[in-house]
Amino acid sequence: RKRIGVMTSGGDAPGMNAAVRAVVRMSIAKGCEAYAIYEGYEGLVKGGSLIKRMRWEDVRGWLSEGGTLIGTARCKEFRERAGRLAGAKNLILNGIDALIICGGDGSLTGADIFRSEWPGLLDELVKKKELTQEQINPFQHLNIVGLVGSIDNDMSSTDATIGAYSSLTRICQAVDFIDATAYSHSRAFVVEVMGRHCGWLALMAGVSTGADFVFLPEKPPAAGWEDEMCDIIAKHRKLGKRKTIVIVAEGAIDRDLKPVSASYVKDILVDKLGLDTRITTLGHVQRGGTACAYDRMLATLQGVEAVEAVLESTPETPSPMIAINENKITRKPLMDAVKLTQSVAACIKNKDFEGAMELRDAEFEE
Ligand code: ATP
Repeated sequence: RKRIGVMTSGGDAPGMNAAVRAVVRMSIAKGCEAYAIYEGYEGLVKGGSLIKRMRWEDVRGWLSEGGTLIGTARCKEFRERAGRLAGAKNLILNGIDALIICGGDGSLTGADIFRSEWPGLLDELVKKKELTQEQINPFQHLNIVGLVGSIDNDMSSTDATIGAYSSLTRICQAVDFIDATAYSHSRAFVVEVMGRHCGWLALMAGVSTGADFVFLPEKPPAAGWEDEMCDIIAKHRKLGKRKTIVIVAEGAIDRDLKPVSASYVKDILVDKLGLDTRITTLGHVQRGGTACAYDRMLATLQGVEAVEAVLESTPETPSPMIAINENKITRKPLMDAVKLTQSVAACIKNKDFEGAMELRDAEFEE
């Protein structure tokens, strides 16, 4: 019976529990055993009670739960070979040679490095007399499958990451609440949303709430944007709009890569338009709460596909990342997706904003 490990790593995202539930139950349905690795890579490195067999009923009620019930952590040790050596030993001691990791690009890169060092890690453990040749013989191939869990929707090659739509839903609800009070007092609100270096949450929140202006990291505004923003908002006000909403992505920058902060935007609205302006930083509210229907569905379908991918993989198959493209669950080469994600980030860092947009467009034309 194959033993499949599942872990969540990096930042938590609603839908991660639904993914773990799907992996556990699909593994069992396919005649395999499922193991949860608690606290991300820390559980792999430390082993012991952090690696736990999961039965069907252990994940009951997990479909809608926010966050991750098996925990997540940033683990420095796993970045070093010594940590990965400890991780390899713990996998062998538990008889696990397949790992499904739900996390961001960092977590998936770590998983790919781990696989690339296999079975060398095992030989080293035998040399160090930590394991015997007989113990490692059945585990010459390590299987890795990536699921992307992130509220930011910041991974290339997939249309949606697990958690992004839950977060977007929460932002929209919050802006709806703000709308009511903004309208009452005829105020302006500058709303800062998460997303790190990715503007998807900010852009989609802007579209979904009818915001007056949006700041994104990928499309920094041209010099003089202050006047452009004020002209647009003044026009809206003249047409009778009593409320103003400006959405600022936390990673928003200008064309010189200087952060565009919510407080600077507020000052502009006060000084140039005389608007009574408040700032709302939504913060961790955006990560919490139950997973929306889309994330429950996405995580379940992708968790099922991840187990299928484990069972179909061969030593020659590159590690897959489970994606969704035009509403179909797909498999993409994991490291290609990670590299493309990093290329977009590199373009922005080099002020090549057009290049970043071209890479994003190319992804959709594929
Ligand atoms: P998020 O997008 O939410 O930040 P992430 O998966 O990108 O998620 P990271 O902090 O980059 O988050 O990575 C999570 C963990 O994955 C790290 O703490 C580390 O244990 C492991 N990891 C990341 N990069 C590497 C790497 N290059 N080599 C080995 N392990 C890595």
